[in-house]
Amino acid sequence: MLPLYKALFADLQRGKGLEGFEYLDGHYLLSLDGTGYFSSTKVHCPQCGEKHHRNGTTTYYHQMLGAVLVHPDHSEVFPLAPEPILKQDGARKNDCERNAAKRLLADLRRAHPHLKLIVVEDALASNAPHIRQLQELNLRFILGAKPSDHTHLFAWVAATPETREVEFTDAKGVRHRFRYLNGAPLNESNFDLEVNFLEYWEHTPDGKVTHFSWVTDFTIDDSNLMTLMRGARARWKVENETFNTLENQGYHFEHNFGHGNNNLSTVLMHLMMLAFLIDQIQQRGCRLFQAALTAAQSKTRLWRKLRARFDLCLIPDWDTLYRSIIQPPLLPLPPDTS
Ligand SMILES: [Zn+2]
Repeated sequence: MLPLYKALFADLQRGKGLEGFEYLDGHYLLSLDGTGYFSSTKVHCPQCGEKHHRNGTTTYYHQMLGAVLVHPDHSEVFPLAPEPILKQDGARKNDCERNAAKRLLADLRRAHPHLKLIVVEDALASNAPHIRQLQELNLRFILGAKPSDHTHLFAWVAATPETREVEFTDAKGVRHRFRYLNGAPLNESNFDLEVNFLEYWEHTPDGKVTHFSWVTDFTIDDSNLMTLMRGARARWKVENETFNTLENQGYHFEHNFGHGNNNLSTVLMHLMMLAFLIDQIQQRGCRLFQAALTAAQSKTRLWRKLRARFDLCLIPDWDTLYRSIIQPPLLPLPPDTS
């Protein structure tokens, strides 16, 4: 499966589909996050995760770790090969996701040794072993860091006189408040592992305050605060533009098409991700696909129209297929001659 993702990614690069996707210093943003793609109280296989409920029932599930190229200004996202999260990875859920991340990052670097990437992840990722692996693989990072997980770091930042605060209001009346410090120890037990700390409060004119904090290996200064903040928040695109699209726009990601005895569930997940990647590439680079999507008004409707044509017509090529959606031909039904 992995070579298929790589081949499609190479096509995307060759077709200049990634132009405008570089985000910072020629790097792309890569958002990592886990999601479930199978859940059942009956059907299961030896690789299923198991959740035992108090009433004696068990939920069986499969999860994966997705890695998706994102950009705050673009709606398309491009998945690299996702990694299944397997039961034997660890006793606790977090262990599973962390172990899957280890495999995913190593495979990713093998497949794309020179790709310049900034990994953006949630607060589960801001731990020393993970950051050291990112550094070993020459991957840059912006990772969530919660005050509750990093009491030492937050205390360090608060107590350091060099900690800088910056605040300004933009044209839309949104107040942006930042606090940052370069070269802070991640935690007490990893004192030698220095990270750059960024904290942010967004005050919208309606009085709402949103608070975020991250650690990064980019040197922070007054000029890149907004860029780092927007890059970190593009992480949500793995949820909003990838998993939600797979669930709600006709891919039936969470449906159980079949589970099989060994690997069928994982194979079906990969086929769906590959179909999604091909669609995203077309959405980015194919004018006919874009026009067909506009004509159909939604992806779910476009898939339905495509299926209907396959049911009724001999399709000579993709161009003709898409053109038949942009300008539908009137097909007379043959009269009954029986
Ligand atoms: Zn299973």
